[in-house]
Amino acid sequence: MELALITGAASGIGRETALQMARSGYQAIAVDVNVDGGQKLAEEARQADLSLTFISADVSDDQETDHLFSYVRTLGAPLTALVNAAGIVVFDNPENISLADFDRIIRVNLRSVWLMCNKARPLMFEAGGGAMVNISSVHAWATDNLVSPYTASKGGISALTRSLAIAWGRQGIRVNAVLPGPIDTPLMRANLRAVGDEEEEYAKTGAALALGRVGQPIEIAHVVEFLCSAKASFMTGAEILVDGGMLAHA
Ligand code: NAP
Repeated sequence: MELALITGAASGIGRETALQMARSGYQAIAVDVNVDGGQKLAEEARQADLSLTFISADVSDDQETDHLFSYVRTLGAPLTALVNAAGIVVFDNPENISLADFDRIIRVNLRSVWLMCNKARPLMFEAGGGAMVNISSVHAWATDNLVSPYTASKGGISALTRSLAIAWGRQGIRVNAVLPGPIDTPLMRANLRAVGDEEEEYAKTGAALALGRVGQPIEIAHVVEFLCSAKASFMTGAEILVDGGMLAHA
């Protein structure tokens, strides 16, 4: 069985992606700092007879990711997919955001992608090739005043994705980014509560999109699954907008 490693897998987009990759035939290695959420995911997968293992690790930490990849090596199966979905956000105007929060956001959102992609590369190369998918955001392209460090991290992920795609294309490794719009996850719900009444803001957010509704995590997971599959064999260095038409608006 081929291995798919998914970060941020205890919640939201990463969680649904880990389940979807397992449904599509991979052995999913689900990684997160949220141990409770990860254990619940593993139990749900077990009940559905899916091959999924939860590993607790901080994907922004050099040592912890070393241990993670040492473990992956012991599995002796080819690593052919990596999905970087771990992410955090702090909602405030730039002048109110501390340097500590800026550093934390860049570390979790961007440094983690650097570490994970670099450490996955030799295993994928040995496997004869594979696909990496980095979860960026619409904020990499069009943003607002309240998420500047997050925007910087997502712009960084998009640019890094292009550079890694050029570096590793001839090694059989494709690297793409997915840019979700508003997707109903705990992270999005927390953002809504930061700006107003959660349900009101949820309705407003959906109504502002061309499709008239907020997206679901599975709608990102399906695109990730496609990008990891042979059907996307000529795609690398791409940024795929999955935003319900959000950025189609003037
Ligand atoms: P989520 O529900 O909060 O899930 C993110 C998961 O990542 C959480 O379980 C979180 O654990 C975990 N995590 C945080 N720091 C980590 C670390 N250092 N190492 C390992 N795991 C870590 O968020 P989501 O909405 O699914 O977001 C997934 C990705 O999609 C993020 O990169 C986000 O920026 C991106 N995205 C989301 C949306 C959206 O509308 N939802 C839109 C565009 C892009 P804790 O809960 O313990 O922090």
